[in-house]
Amino acid sequence: MITLTQLVLASHNAGKLKELQAMLGHQVHLRSVGEFSQAEPEETGLSFVENAILKARNASRLSGLPALADDSGLAVDHLGGAPGIYSARYADGQGDAANNAKLLAALEGLPEAERGAQFVCVLALVRHADDPLPILCEGLWHGRILQAASGANGFGYDPLFWVPERNCSSAELSPTEKNQLSHRARAMALLRQRLGVE
Ligand code: IMP
Repeated sequence: MITLTQLVLASHNAGKLKELQAMLGHQVHLRSVGEFSQAEPEETGLSFVENAILKARNASRLSGLPALADDSGLAVDHLGGAPGIYSARYADGQGDAANNAKLLAALEGLPEAERGAQFVCVLALVRHADDPLPILCEGLWHGRILQAASGANGFGYDPLFWVPERNCSSAELSPTEKNQLSHRARAMALLRQRLGVE
């Protein structure tokens, strides 16, 4: 177990920092990499793990502090795990509505039983930029891709993601419910265990 009082989060997104801080608890203070630099690394990895490590190393290099990065997306079984690490730009950067439309088209006519998918979140923590042993925590949230969008909460693919344990789409969950079930919540629960924080 390692003892940490602060971690630099490899994200410039204030909402993500707030969400991850709430999930991590208050024994470890999360700071944004934006305090140190606005430069963002190119995500050249082929997997969530590679991209999370690459971002964590970059944040640690820029700050001189231990760093945490997350990489997340949607992996659809029928599409061999696509859009995967390309989830945000599946429809060539045209945004969430275009991403969802492209996904619905790719699965058109496919029966329910073949519409399995999972949201994936990988958290990578490095103690220093060249850490040879990053801590890796993976959270998977299994569900199915709906035939049509439903619900107005959340973001990204939430309106298309059916949550079997709640019988609704993830865009129909309240933010509190989603934060208890989601891929990020699952990865963060593992990280809390690894860090021994309450
Ligand atoms: P990021 O790693 O948080 O930037 O997420 C990458 C992309 O994956 C987002 O732009 C969304 O398209 C998708 N994604 C990740 N997490 C979620 C989620 O909780 N709901 C819906 N879409 C998500």
